[in-house]
Amino acid sequence: MSQIHGLAAHAAGAQLLSYKYDPGDLMPNEVEVKITHCGVCHSDLHLIDHDWGISQFPFIPGHEIVGTVSAVGSNVTDRQLGQRVGIGWQSDSCGVCEWCRQGEEHLCAKNQGTCVGRNGGYADAVRVNAKFAIPVPDSLESENVAPLLCGGITVYAPLRNHGVNPASRVGVIGIGGLGHMALQFARAFGAEVTAFSTSVDKEAEARSLGAHHFVNTRDTGALKKVAGGYDFILSTVNAEQDWAGYVNALRPKGTLVFVGVPPAPISLPVFPLIVGQRSIAGSPTGSPQDLHEMLDVAARHNIKAMTERFPMAKANEAIQKVKKNKVRYRAVLAN
Ligand code: NAP
Ligand code: ZN
Repeated sequence: MSQIHGLAAHAAGAQLLSYKYDPGDLMPNEVEVKITHCGVCHSDLHLIDHDWGISQFPFIPGHEIVGTVSAVGSNVTDRQLGQRVGIGWQSDSCGVCEWCRQGEEHLCAKNQGTCVGRNGGYADAVRVNAKFAIPVPDSLESENVAPLLCGGITVYAPLRNHGVNPASRVGVIGIGGLGHMALQFARAFGAEVTAFSTSVDKEAEARSLGAHHFVNTRDTGALKKVAGGYDFILSTVNAEQDWAGYVNALRPKGTLVFVGVPPAPISLPVFPLIVGQRSIAGSPTGSPQDLHEMLDVAARHNIKAMTERFPMAKANEAIQKVKKNKVRYRAVLAN
Protein backbone atom coordinates (compact mmCIF):
# COMPACT_ATOMS: atom_id res chain seq x y z
CA MET A 1 0.00 0.00 0.00
CA SER A 2 1.51 3.34 -0.99
CA GLN A 3 -0.39 5.34 1.62
CA ILE A 4 -2.19 4.23 4.75
CA HIS A 5 -5.37 6.07 5.65
CA GLY A 6 -6.58 6.39 9.23
CA LEU A 7 -7.91 8.68 11.94
CA ALA A 8 -5.35 10.61 13.98
CA ALA A 9 -5.22 12.82 17.04
CA HIS A 10 -3.23 15.95 16.12
CA ALA A 11 -3.01 17.32 19.69
CA ALA A 12 -3.71 16.16 23.24
CA GLY A 13 -7.42 15.53 23.76
CA ALA A 14 -8.31 16.43 20.18
CA GLN A 15 -11.01 14.80 18.05
CA LEU A 16 -9.62 12.28 15.59
CA LEU A 17 -9.34 13.58 12.03
CA SER A 18 -8.75 11.86 8.71
CA TYR A 19 -5.01 11.35 8.18
CA LYS A 20 -2.76 9.69 5.60
CA TYR A 21 0.83 8.60 5.97
CA ASP A 22 3.42 6.97 3.78
CA PRO A 23 4.67 3.78 5.49
CA GLY A 24 7.80 3.63 3.31
CA ASP A 25 9.40 0.35 2.28
CA LEU A 26 8.17 -2.83 3.95
CA MET A 27 10.97 -4.07 6.23
CA PRO A 28 12.20 -7.67 5.66
CA ASN A 29 10.78 -8.82 9.05
CA GLU A 30 7.44 -7.02 8.69
CA VAL A 31 3.97 -7.85 7.50
CA GLU A 32 1.34 -5.39 6.36
CA VAL A 33 -2.14 -6.16 7.64
CA LYS A 34 -5.35 -4.96 6.03
CA ILE A 35 -7.50 -4.10 9.04
CA THR A 36 -11.06 -5.35 9.39
CA HIS A 37 -11.61 -4.62 13.11
CA CYS A 38 -9.97 -2.62 15.90
CA GLY A 39 -11.07 -2.48 19.55
CA VAL A 40 -11.22 0.79 21.49
CA CYS A 41 -9.11 0.17 24.59
CA HIS A 42 -9.14 2.76 27.36
CA SER A 43 -5.37 3.02 26.85
CA ASP A 44 -6.12 4.63 23.45
CA LEU A 45 -8.05 7.32 25.34
CA HIS A 46 -5.13 7.84 27.74
CA LEU A 47 -2.77 8.16 24.74
CA ILE A 48 -5.06 10.62 22.93
CA ASP A 49 -5.31 12.71 26.12
CA HIS A 50 -1.50 12.50 26.60
CA ASP A 51 -2.14 11.22 30.17
CA TRP A 52 1.10 9.24 30.24
CA GLY A 53 3.36 11.82 28.56
CA ILE A 54 4.45 9.29 25.89
CA SER A 55 2.21 10.31 22.97
CA GLN A 56 3.70 11.87 19.84
CA PHE A 57 1.22 13.81 17.70
CA PRO A 58 -0.19 13.30 15.18
CA PHE A 59 -0.77 9.62 15.72
CA ILE A 60 -3.38 7.02 14.84
CA PRO A 61 -4.55 5.12 17.96
CA GLY A 62 -5.56 1.46 18.01
CA HIS A 63 -3.86 -1.69 19.28
CA GLU A 64 -6.58 -4.38 19.32
CA ILE A 65 -6.37 -5.18 15.64
CA VAL A 66 -7.67 -8.03 13.51
CA GLY A 67 -7.16 -8.21 9.77
CA THR A 68 -5.58 -10.17 6.96
CA VAL A 69 -1.96 -10.18 5.83
CA SER A 70 -1.69 -8.05 2.69
CA ALA A 71 2.10 -7.95 2.23
CA VAL A 72 4.93 -10.11 3.57
CA GLY A 73 8.53 -8.96 4.15
CA SER A 74 11.33 -10.84 2.39
CA ASN A 75 12.57 -12.57 5.58
CA VAL A 76 9.14 -13.67 6.84
CA THR A 77 8.52 -17.38 6.31
CA ASP A 78 5.73 -18.13 8.80
CA ARG A 79 2.95 -15.74 7.73
CA GLN A 80 1.05 -15.99 4.44
CA LEU A 81 -0.83 -13.54 2.28
CA GLY A 82 -4.51 -13.60 3.20
CA GLN A 83 -3.91 -15.17 6.64
CA ARG A 84 -6.05 -13.73 9.47
CA VAL A 85 -3.95 -12.30 12.28
CA GLY A 86 -4.35 -10.25 15.45
CA ILE A 87 -2.07 -7.52 16.74
CA GLY A 88 -2.04 -6.17 20.30
CA TRP A 89 -0.20 -3.48 22.26
CA GLN A 90 3.27 -4.45 21.03
CA SER A 91 4.55 -4.29 17.47
CA ASP A 92 8.29 -4.96 17.81
CA SER A 93 11.17 -5.62 20.23
CA CYS A 94 14.96 -5.75 19.98
CA GLY A 95 15.01 -9.55 19.55
CA VAL A 96 18.41 -10.02 21.23
CA CYS A 97 18.18 -8.96 24.91
CA GLU A 98 17.83 -11.52 27.71
CA TRP A 99 14.01 -11.01 27.79
CA CYS A 100 13.53 -11.41 24.03
CA ARG A 101 15.76 -14.51 24.08
CA GLN A 102 13.52 -16.03 26.78
CA GLY A 103 10.31 -15.29 24.85
CA GLU A 104 9.35 -12.42 27.18
CA GLU A 105 9.45 -9.73 24.50
CA HIS A 106 6.91 -7.63 26.42
CA LEU A 107 9.67 -6.97 28.99
CA CYS A 108 12.23 -5.82 26.39
CA ALA A 109 13.51 -2.32 27.21
CA LYS A 110 13.27 -1.46 23.51
CA ASN A 111 9.78 -2.88 22.99
CA GLN A 112 7.66 -0.77 20.67
CA GLY A 113 3.97 -0.04 21.08
CA THR A 114 1.67 -0.51 18.10
CA CYS A 115 0.43 3.09 18.46
CA VAL A 116 3.16 4.77 20.54
CA GLY A 117 5.62 6.64 18.34
CA ARG A 118 3.96 4.96 15.38
CA ASN A 119 0.53 4.68 13.80
CA GLY A 120 -1.98 2.08 14.96
CA GLY A 121 -5.20 0.40 14.01
CA TYR A 122 -7.91 3.08 13.58
CA ALA A 123 -6.91 2.80 9.93
CA ASP A 124 -7.18 0.66 6.83
CA ALA A 125 -3.79 -1.03 7.36
CA VAL A 126 -0.84 -1.33 9.73
CA ARG A 127 2.68 -2.77 9.61
CA VAL A 128 4.39 -4.71 12.40
CA ASN A 129 7.19 -7.20 12.95
CA ALA A 130 5.58 -10.48 11.79
CA LYS A 131 6.26 -12.11 15.18
CA PHE A 132 3.69 -9.73 16.70
CA ALA A 133 0.97 -10.59 14.16
CA ILE A 134 -0.59 -13.65 15.81
CA PRO A 135 -2.67 -16.14 13.79
CA VAL A 136 -6.29 -16.16 15.01
CA PRO A 137 -8.07 -19.52 15.57
CA ASP A 138 -10.79 -20.10 12.94
CA SER A 139 -13.59 -20.52 15.47
CA LEU A 140 -13.28 -16.95 16.82
CA GLU A 141 -15.19 -14.08 15.15
CA SER A 142 -12.97 -11.13 14.28
CA GLU A 143 -15.19 -8.59 16.07
CA ASN A 144 -15.17 -10.56 19.33
CA VAL A 145 -11.53 -11.52 19.22
CA ALA A 146 -10.06 -8.05 18.53
CA PRO A 147 -10.43 -6.95 22.20
CA LEU A 148 -8.62 -10.08 23.36
CA LEU A 149 -5.43 -8.85 21.69
CA CYS A 150 -4.83 -6.20 24.37
CA GLY A 151 -7.58 -6.31 26.99
CA GLY A 152 -7.79 -10.12 26.98
CA ILE A 153 -4.08 -10.81 27.29
CA THR A 154 -3.74 -8.12 29.97
CA VAL A 155 -6.12 -9.99 32.26
CA TYR A 156 -5.15 -13.52 31.17
CA ALA A 157 -1.41 -13.13 31.87
CA PRO A 158 -1.64 -12.20 35.58
CA LEU A 159 -4.20 -14.95 36.29
CA ARG A 160 -1.77 -17.41 34.70
CA ASN A 161 1.42 -15.93 36.23
CA HIS A 162 -0.01 -15.79 39.76
CA GLY A 163 -1.17 -19.40 39.67
CA VAL A 164 -4.93 -18.85 39.91
CA ASN A 165 -6.62 -22.26 40.21
CA PRO A 166 -9.88 -23.88 41.38
CA ALA A 167 -9.01 -23.22 45.03
CA SER A 168 -8.56 -19.47 44.36
CA ARG A 169 -10.98 -16.77 45.39
CA VAL A 170 -10.61 -14.06 42.75
CA GLY A 171 -11.92 -10.49 42.69
CA VAL A 172 -12.11 -8.31 39.57
CA ILE A 173 -12.44 -4.54 40.12
CA GLY A 174 -14.16 -2.67 37.27
CA ILE A 175 -16.38 -4.52 34.81
CA GLY A 176 -15.47 -2.69 31.62
CA GLY A 177 -13.52 -3.87 28.59
CA LEU A 178 -10.79 -5.62 30.58
CA GLY A 179 -12.97 -6.59 33.53
CA HIS A 180 -15.65 -8.43 31.56
CA MET A 181 -12.97 -10.58 29.92
CA ALA A 182 -11.28 -11.13 33.32
CA LEU A 183 -14.52 -12.62 34.71
CA GLN A 184 -14.60 -15.14 31.85
CA PHE A 185 -10.94 -16.11 32.12
CA ALA A 186 -11.02 -16.35 35.94
CA ARG A 187 -14.01 -18.65 35.65
CA ALA A 188 -12.17 -20.76 33.06
CA PHE A 189 -9.25 -21.08 35.51
CA GLY A 190 -11.80 -22.66 37.88
CA ALA A 191 -11.76 -19.89 40.50
CA GLU A 192 -14.61 -18.56 42.64
CA VAL A 193 -15.13 -15.15 41.07
CA THR A 194 -16.40 -11.84 42.49
CA ALA A 195 -17.12 -8.72 40.42
CA PHE A 196 -16.50 -5.37 42.15
CA SER A 197 -18.38 -2.68 40.28
CA THR A 198 -19.72 0.85 40.60
CA SER A 199 -22.53 0.00 38.15
CA VAL A 200 -25.36 -2.03 39.68
CA ASP A 201 -26.96 -2.42 36.26
CA LYS A 202 -24.03 -4.69 35.32
CA GLU A 203 -24.84 -7.35 37.93
CA ALA A 204 -26.86 -9.77 35.77
CA GLU A 205 -24.36 -9.63 32.91
CA ALA A 206 -21.41 -9.97 35.27
CA ARG A 207 -22.96 -13.15 36.60
CA SER A 208 -23.63 -14.47 33.10
CA LEU A 209 -19.97 -13.78 32.22
CA GLY A 210 -18.74 -15.90 35.12
CA ALA A 211 -19.05 -13.99 38.41
CA HIS A 212 -20.41 -16.02 41.33
CA HIS A 213 -20.78 -12.85 43.42
CA PHE A 214 -21.30 -9.15 42.75
CA VAL A 215 -20.23 -6.34 45.10
CA ASN A 216 -21.62 -2.85 44.53
CA THR A 217 -18.65 -0.71 45.55
CA ARG A 218 -20.83 2.40 45.82
CA ASP A 219 -22.21 0.86 49.05
CA THR A 220 -20.21 2.26 51.93
CA GLY A 221 -18.96 -0.62 54.02
CA ALA A 222 -19.10 -3.11 51.10
CA LEU A 223 -15.36 -3.79 51.27
CA LYS A 224 -15.39 -4.23 55.06
CA LYS A 225 -17.93 -7.02 54.62
CA VAL A 226 -15.54 -8.99 52.40
CA ALA A 227 -12.35 -8.40 54.44
CA GLY A 228 -9.90 -11.31 54.28
CA GLY A 229 -11.83 -12.93 51.41
CA TYR A 230 -9.59 -13.09 48.31
CA ASP A 231 -6.38 -14.75 47.17
CA PHE A 232 -6.11 -12.59 44.08
CA ILE A 233 -7.67 -9.24 43.20
CA LEU A 234 -7.22 -7.68 39.77
CA SER A 235 -7.85 -3.96 39.42
CA THR A 236 -8.84 -2.86 35.93
CA VAL A 237 -10.05 0.64 36.88
CA ASN A 238 -8.45 3.90 35.89
CA ALA A 239 -9.87 5.78 38.89
CA GLU A 240 -9.15 6.32 42.59
CA GLN A 241 -10.49 3.52 44.78
CA ASP A 242 -10.34 2.51 48.44
CA TRP A 243 -7.05 0.66 47.87
CA ALA A 244 -6.49 0.10 51.61
CA GLY A 245 -9.93 -1.54 51.68
CA TYR A 246 -8.89 -3.86 48.84
CA VAL A 247 -5.64 -4.79 50.59
CA ASN A 248 -7.73 -5.68 53.65
CA ALA A 249 -9.96 -7.77 51.38
CA LEU A 250 -6.98 -10.05 50.62
CA ARG A 251 -6.45 -13.31 52.47
CA PRO A 252 -3.00 -13.96 53.94
CA LYS A 253 -0.50 -14.35 51.05
CA GLY A 254 -3.04 -12.74 48.71
CA THR A 255 -2.04 -10.40 45.88
CA LEU A 256 -3.57 -7.21 44.53
CA VAL A 257 -2.53 -6.79 40.89
CA PHE A 258 -2.91 -3.50 39.03
CA VAL A 259 -3.51 -3.51 35.30
CA GLY A 260 -5.67 -0.38 35.24
CA VAL A 261 -3.78 2.85 35.74
CA PRO A 262 -5.09 5.16 38.51
CA PRO A 263 -4.73 8.87 37.71
CA ALA A 264 -2.19 9.62 40.47
CA PRO A 265 0.26 7.76 42.73
CA ILE A 266 -1.58 5.76 45.37
CA SER A 267 -1.04 5.72 49.12
CA LEU A 268 -1.30 2.54 51.17
CA PRO A 269 -0.74 1.44 54.77
CA VAL A 270 2.13 -1.08 54.84
CA PHE A 271 1.19 -2.92 58.04
CA PRO A 272 -1.50 -5.17 56.45
CA LEU A 273 1.03 -6.19 53.79
CA ILE A 274 3.54 -7.23 56.44
CA VAL A 275 1.33 -9.10 58.86
CA GLY A 276 -0.66 -10.92 56.18
CA GLN A 277 2.37 -11.53 53.92
CA ARG A 278 0.32 -9.87 51.18
CA SER A 279 1.68 -8.47 47.90
CA ILE A 280 0.95 -5.71 45.47
CA ALA A 281 2.01 -6.12 41.85
CA GLY A 282 1.57 -4.71 38.38
CA SER A 283 1.21 -6.53 35.08
CA PRO A 284 1.61 -5.42 31.46
CA THR A 285 0.16 -7.21 28.43
CA GLY A 286 2.01 -10.41 27.39
CA SER A 287 4.48 -11.90 24.96
CA PRO A 288 3.67 -13.28 21.48
CA GLN A 289 3.82 -16.76 23.01
CA ASP A 290 1.33 -15.69 25.72
CA LEU A 291 -0.93 -14.31 22.98
CA HIS A 292 -0.84 -17.63 21.07
CA GLU A 293 -1.76 -19.48 24.27
CA MET A 294 -4.48 -17.01 25.34
CA LEU A 295 -6.20 -17.17 21.93
CA ASP A 296 -6.10 -20.95 22.02
CA VAL A 297 -7.62 -20.95 25.53
CA ALA A 298 -10.28 -18.46 24.42
CA ALA A 299 -11.19 -20.68 21.45
CA ARG A 300 -11.41 -23.83 23.56
CA HIS A 301 -13.36 -22.20 26.43
CA ASN A 302 -15.59 -20.05 24.21
CA ILE A 303 -14.31 -16.80 25.71
CA LYS A 304 -15.06 -13.68 23.70
CA ALA A 305 -15.56 -9.99 24.14
CA MET A 306 -19.10 -8.65 24.25
CA THR A 307 -18.91 -5.89 21.69
CA GLU A 308 -20.64 -2.81 20.32
CA ARG A 309 -19.71 -2.26 16.71
CA PHE A 310 -19.09 1.21 15.22
CA PRO A 311 -18.05 2.01 11.65
CA MET A 312 -14.40 3.13 11.62
CA ALA A 313 -15.54 6.62 10.61
CA LYS A 314 -17.46 6.92 13.91
CA ALA A 315 -14.41 6.37 16.12
CA ASN A 316 -14.97 9.72 17.90
CA GLU A 317 -18.49 8.61 18.86
CA ALA A 318 -17.15 5.32 20.22
CA ILE A 319 -14.52 7.17 22.27
CA GLN A 320 -17.13 9.44 23.87
CA LYS A 321 -19.24 6.42 24.81
CA VAL A 322 -16.22 4.68 26.41
CA LYS A 323 -15.48 7.88 28.38
CA LYS A 324 -19.01 7.85 29.79
CA ASN A 325 -18.69 4.16 30.81
CA LYS A 326 -21.70 3.39 28.59
CA VAL A 327 -20.23 0.69 26.32
CA ARG A 328 -21.18 -2.93 27.03
CA TYR A 329 -18.41 -3.96 27.12
CA ARG A 330 -15.96 -3.17 24.32
CA ALA A 331 -16.40 -0.81 21.39
CA VAL A 332 -14.99 -2.27 18.17
CA LEU A 333 -14.42 -0.22 15.01
CA ALA A 334 -15.10 -2.05 11.75
CA ASN A 335 -13.91 -1.23 8.24
P1 NAP B 1 -13.04 0.61 30.37
O1 NAP B 1 -13.64 -0.30 29.37
O2 NAP B 1 -13.37 2.06 30.31
O3 NAP B 1 -13.43 0.02 31.81
C1 NAP B 1 -13.00 0.61 33.00
C2 NAP B 1 -14.00 0.26 34.10
O4 NAP B 1 -13.54 0.86 35.31
C3 NAP B 1 -15.38 0.84 33.88
O5 NAP B 1 -16.20 0.05 33.08
C4 NAP B 1 -15.91 0.90 35.31
O6 NAP B 1 -16.39 -0.38 35.72
C5 NAP B 1 -14.66 1.19 36.10
N1 NAP B 1 -14.62 2.63 36.39
C6 NAP B 1 -14.57 3.66 35.54
N2 NAP B 1 -14.58 4.83 36.19
C7 NAP B 1 -14.63 4.53 37.47
C8 NAP B 1 -14.68 5.32 38.65
N3 NAP B 1 -14.67 6.68 38.61
N4 NAP B 1 -14.70 4.69 39.82
C9 NAP B 1 -14.71 3.34 39.85
N5 NAP B 1 -14.69 2.55 38.77
C10 NAP B 1 -14.65 3.14 37.59
O7 NAP B 1 -11.46 0.55 30.32
P2 NAP B 1 -10.50 -0.69 29.89
O8 NAP B 1 -10.24 -0.63 28.44
O9 NAP B 1 -11.02 -1.93 30.53
O10 NAP B 1 -9.12 -0.25 30.59
C11 NAP B 1 -9.06 -0.11 32.01
C12 NAP B 1 -7.69 0.37 32.42
O11 NAP B 1 -6.71 -0.63 32.10
C13 NAP B 1 -7.20 1.65 31.73
O12 NAP B 1 -6.48 2.42 32.67
C14 NAP B 1 -6.24 1.14 30.67
O13 NAP B 1 -5.28 2.09 30.29
C15 NAP B 1 -5.62 -0.02 31.42
N6 NAP B 1 -4.95 -1.03 30.58
C16 NAP B 1 -3.77 -1.53 31.03
C17 NAP B 1 -3.11 -2.49 30.31
C18 NAP B 1 -1.82 -3.07 30.82
O14 NAP B 1 -0.99 -3.51 30.03
N7 NAP B 1 -1.62 -3.15 32.11
C19 NAP B 1 -3.65 -2.97 29.12
C20 NAP B 1 -4.89 -2.47 28.71
C21 NAP B 1 -5.54 -1.49 29.45
P3 NAP B 1 -17.70 -0.49 36.67
O15 NAP B 1 -18.80 0.20 35.90
O16 NAP B 1 -17.89 -1.95 36.80
O17 NAP B 1 -17.36 0.19 37.96
ZN1 ZN C 1 -5.03 -1.71 25.36
